[in-house]
Amino acid sequence: MIEAEMMRIILEHVYKQFPKKCNNCQRVFSSYRDYLLHTERVGVPISYDLELDDLNPDHSSGNIALANCSCGNTIAISSSGMPLTQIWRILAWVKLESSRRGVSKEVIVCHIRDTVENMGRA
Ligand SMILES: [Zn+2]
Repeated sequence: MIEAEMMRIILEHVYKQFPKKCNNCQRVFSSYRDYLLHTERVGVPISYDLELDDLNPDHSSGNIALANCSCGNTIAISSSGMPLTQIWRILAWVKLESSRRGVSKEVIVCHIRDTVENMGRA
């Protein structure tokens, strides 16, 4: 799978999670762009599938990126609801890129988040 295609698939999945509401202060983020402008990233994205080193899980353990709302509550963007075959393709891409570039999978996952966020801000 080529990188640009994968980024588009992820971005489309992220878009489906909006509008999104903060369960603490009830603020509604009308769009991904609105969310990116008004939240602060927390740490690095977490891929439970990669942590378990299961690239073709029968059930995805989840892949999430966290951000803090201005009220301090943590909100997650997740791979929940994404078709399993798409998740498998993304995990395979992360593994391939990590060995091709000689960097950790975490570096690749961060690259994916940076790229998808830049597309979301555009
Ligand atoms: Zn909030």
